[in-house]
Amino acid sequence: MPDTASSDRIADLLAGLNPPQREAVTHGEGPLLILAGAGTGKTRVLTHRIAYLEGTGMARANEILAITFTNKAAQEMRERVELLLGRRTRAMWVMTFHAACARMLRADAHRLGYTRQFTIYDQADARRLVKRCLDELGVDTKRFTPGAVHHQISDAKNKLRDAEAYRRMTGDSTAFVTHVADAFGLYERELLRMNAMDFDDLLVNAVNVLQLFQDVRDRYSSAFRHVLVDEYQDTNAVQYRWLQLLAEEHRNLAVVGDDAQSIYGFRGADIRNLLDFEDSFPDSHVVKLEQNYRSTQTILSAANAVIAHNRDQKRKSLWTNHGDGEPIRIRELDDEHAEARYVVGEIERLVDEGASRAEIAVFYRTNAQSRVIEDTLVRRDISYQVIGGTKFYERAEIKDAIAYLAVLGNPQDVVSFQRIVNSPRRGIGQTSLARVSAFADTMGISVWDAAADPASVPGLGTAAVRSLGRFMDMMHALRERVQQRVPIGDLLESLLHETGYIEALKAERTIEAQGREENLAELVEVAREFDATAEEDEDTLDVFLQQIALVADADTRSDDEGLVTLMTIHNAKGLEYPIVFIAGMEEGVFPHSRALDEGGLEEERRLAYVAITRAMRALYMTSARRRAVFGATQYGMRSRFLDEVPHDLTDCADEAGRGRGLAASAAQRAGAWASSSTSTARSDEPAPSFRLGDDVAHAAFGAGVVVGVEAGGIVVVRFAGDGSERKLMAEYAPITRL
Ligand code: ATP
Ligand code: MG
Repeated sequence: MPDTASSDRIADLLAGLNPPQREAVTHGEGPLLILAGAGTGKTRVLTHRIAYLEGTGMARANEILAITFTNKAAQEMRERVELLLGRRTRAMWVMTFHAACARMLRADAHRLGYTRQFTIYDQADARRLVKRCLDELGVDTKRFTPGAVHHQISDAKNKLRDAEAYRRMTGDSTAFVTHVADAFGLYERELLRMNAMDFDDLLVNAVNVLQLFQDVRDRYSSAFRHVLVDEYQDTNAVQYRWLQLLAEEHRNLAVVGDDAQSIYGFRGADIRNLLDFEDSFPDSHVVKLEQNYRSTQTILSAANAVIAHNRDQKRKSLWTNHGDGEPIRIRELDDEHAEARYVVGEIERLVDEGASRAEIAVFYRTNAQSRVIEDTLVRRDISYQVIGGTKFYERAEIKDAIAYLAVLGNPQDVVSFQRIVNSPRRGIGQTSLARVSAFADTMGISVWDAAADPASVPGLGTAAVRSLGRFMDMMHALRERVQQRVPIGDLLESLLHETGYIEALKAERTIEAQGREENLAELVEVAREFDATAEEDEDTLDVFLQQIALVADADTRSDDEGLVTLMTIHNAKGLEYPIVFIAGMEEGVFPHSRALDEGGLEEERRLAYVAITRAMRALYMTSARRRAVFGATQYGMRSRFLDEVPHDLTDCADEAGRGRGLAASAAQRAGAWASSSTSTARSDEPAPSFRLGDDVAHAAFGAGVVVGVEAGGIVVVRFAGDGSERKLMAEYAPITRL
């Protein structure tokens, strides 16, 4: 029975909601769908519902599973819930799909042949392993790159297909498909042998374990009596299946989403998961929210007008009582440098007038666009952060240190072992390592065990035997410390010294090496912070490694006051900023040239909707008449999305450039398309068909192989000459099949 203090809290909590929001928050048992536009309080409803369930005793903290899109969002959600409840709620699972699956697998992976200590391979590790598999199969990795092959594997896994299903479903027997399927099979066997999972495996294996073992499924579905999911429009097949397995028994699944914000189709997200929710759960209670609390009416009207151009859209009418606010500023600049100068100049002006830098965000469609804006910000001495571009955990020294920890936690992890065995250099070269691996394979033992007795490895020189012996002695000693459960911070610090890593950096005497040392010090700090909050009875090292493996790029955003924020629109999902700039509003940039066919274009338009609806008070959209793209100058038409914003919502600054109005510029664009080499206007003509793996010749680039076929008649060709990969319009590019 809630006491008076908590009943007061619950009354307060409900007071901060409008009637439909309150209806969703207080909904009892059974499926719940909240389908609503941007900024209507969907995330707020989820947060309040969690606090409500717990605060009223409808669910205990450990009976709640809340899924968010990023670690950052999870952290924010937990903090908000704690604020609403007035106390900590440690036991609650608020996390991303990947983190929740990883945590489940720590307990149950043994049923699939893994141990608790399995390693999580990030994209780069996975790619390296794919390369090794391709090498082993004798496949030419210049023609069939590990990146392209891994992409196919990942895509298949997210559709819950294994190597054989991939081979069957693709229906093609080109060299590419065959190589992918072979590599896929070998890759899976290797992962299992090394007791490792890639990111996709976390989801796939979590589904497998629930699907195969009734008792596991029963345990989780009775443990998590309430499952809540934010950004549901971006779930893919494997995520959908996982939720279904968890919730089919009690059906307490609450999802929130906005079909207009589905922007991960290219990664296999399936908007039907949202649109067909009522079919999957016929008894679901549906709540629609229409009042937007984020933006001015001008910004909302612009967003509504743009999204109305999509055919497949559930109609939603958003309104706000924030008033009209300022008109949207649209500027057409000469080139990307002028664009950056304009954006940065405006930022300076706004800051002079009292805005905080932290209130300002600059969005762009592709990562590469950030550089010029960054340069300009640096020159004007404005501090900023780039979300999603940060590389702390990708730096070589950080990855080395983590690889050491990974081997100490899981000695079967060959990839990490290979990474560190000669880093810093200790005279154990590629050849020696190859001999050890070969010996391990022959004897059917692990590389770790083979290395532990170097004298018995045939063909290993005395120097190598000695170095390897010393290395293994040290590793065994460190492993003992792991078993004694010394804090990770201490373990890391001593391993960095005992392995000679720090000494080697010091010996370099370069600024760069100094920076690396500082980065490692920062990592020790990360470990100490972790130690301070780690729970007693956990496998701390594994949990620590898992946490690090899951820190996605987009999550490195820090909350420092006074930083202008730069990011791609994809990373901006769910966030809000008082002042927003959207740069690069040009055809070919945004909408992206890769996405100019129908389905692709609608996803680009949803991305425009996401971008616009992040803005609270002020919105700028800029374009450049010419722009350097990969060293060549491109002359882009202004983006169609600019013309879809009603004229009267804008400030009409550059009259000469924009006076032509909607109809004129549409006609002009049609004309431009007809003569342009990237036309989509004639997409009903049959395009010459290419298949994965086709050998082709290009008039300028020479011989190549088709490594991708995309919607809209686009083929991706990898050229043998310079190893470059280019996207070409099959219909227009001077390529022929050989
Ligand atoms: P998105 O679609 O972008 O994810 P959302 O629907 O999740 O948006 P929220 O982020 O939850 O929307 O809310 C948008 C803003 O409106 C937030 O600042 C939130 O605090 C505020 N807000 C939502 N509902 C209310 C309300 N009833 N009263 C006051 N503020 C509210
Ligand atoms: Mg939200």
